[in-house]
Amino acid sequence: MLKKTAKEKQENTIGSLKKRIKKANVCLADQEKAKELENSQLALMNMLEDVEDARKKAEEEKEKTSAVVKSLSDGLIVLNNKERISLLNPQAERMLEIPQKELVGKNIEEIGSSARLASLARALKDWSKGMFRREVLIDKDLIIEVSTVSMVIGGAELGMMLILHDITREKTVERMKTEFVSLAAHQLRTPLSAIKWTLKMLLDGDVGDINDSQKELLEKSYQSNERMIGLINDLLDVTRIEEGRYLYQPVLSDLVSIIESVVENGKDDIKRKGLSLEFKKSNSRIPRIMMDAEKIKLVIQNLLENAVRYTPSGGKIVISVSADKGKIEFQIADNGIGIAKDQQPKIFTKFFRGSNVIKVETEGSGLGLFVSKNIIEAHGGQIWFESKEGEGSVFHFTLPVKKELEEFLKEF
Ligand code: ADP
Repeated sequence: MLKKTAKEKQENTIGSLKKRIKKANVCLADQEKAKELENSQLALMNMLEDVEDARKKAEEEKEKTSAVVKSLSDGLIVLNNKERISLLNPQAERMLEIPQKELVGKNIEEIGSSARLASLARALKDWSKGMFRREVLIDKDLIIEVSTVSMVIGGAELGMMLILHDITREKTVERMKTEFVSLAAHQLRTPLSAIKWTLKMLLDGDVGDINDSQKELLEKSYQSNERMIGLINDLLDVTRIEEGRYLYQPVLSDLVSIIESVVENGKDDIKRKGLSLEFKKSNSRIPRIMMDAEKIKLVIQNLLENAVRYTPSGGKIVISVSADKGKIEFQIADNGIGIAKDQQPKIFTKFFRGSNVIKVETEGSGLGLFVSKNIIEAHGGQIWFESKEGEGSVFHFTLPVKKELEEFLKEF
């Protein structure tokens, strides 16, 4: 056997050392990889936990929203951007008497199975996207106020919410109140007429002579009774407007002569109060138009009475009328006590009286302008005012002039 040389021995030792180092390196790399793997696993677990938390939170939020939607006292219908029903709460199901599963995914107009839904669909027919609020008679015992709200997030239109608010009770109470006022007003009219004619007979001396102080007292009673009759008539007008029974009988009429007759009737009151009145007639021709002359007369009377009532002695009232661009405009200006800015939006509401007028004039019902607005709007016109407290007011109204009628009248 050949004896290994020292060099060979050395080489063998180096070789085995190299192998062991290599092995050790492989071991080390494996350990690092394992560590890396472990870290990645940990990160993944954390991420999964976060995702689970987020999912739970989203679930909770969804449940909360669903609880809110379900417990709303109003009915709620959500339409997607293709106008198909995507959600309906139990109140809406109850109001429409149709289960959610029969509606989801469908277009309201496509569903003709429920009479109630058909009423809602009819009301929504002329809804052009955007805000909409309307009273809808869903059934004989259900009146709802439908409001639409568009759902827009980041400029993208997600759809529309329909909120159904049951107003049956309010409407019933309102109707009963109107009926009561109407009944009471009718019942009061007869005795007030009887008082009026009795006082008139006494004043005219039909039942014997009366002395001056008796006459003065009777005249005061007569005027108070007249005011009461006026108030009852106002109340009857309001109840008729609210019940939709305030009928208009339009005939071809001349606004200028109506104004003249109102001014003539108000002359004594104006003089008594120490006011001056000017009626500025327009140079241009004021066409005759179709209108309910009695009701327009009532509007002018209301406006003139207000100007007289709310203008202190020495004041001035100016009436003018003009015709322009398919309409006639009436104006009445006074330099009276005016209307406070914060109260101006309420002026046409029923029973509203300005705080400044209550101090100077106890008489008045707050009904004149409400009735006047209804009359003008029923004629297709507009009524508005400008006013400054302490300086005066200008009330305006317009009445439309129908072109065809004007052309036709020119022939005569
Ligand atoms: P009334 O005159 O019976 O109170 P109206 O409906 O005619 O009721 O008017 C409502 C309110 O509008 C008045 O109470 C008053 O506050 C205000 N108003 C109307 N016209 C005038 C006016 N010319 N000047 C000042 N205030 C006015």
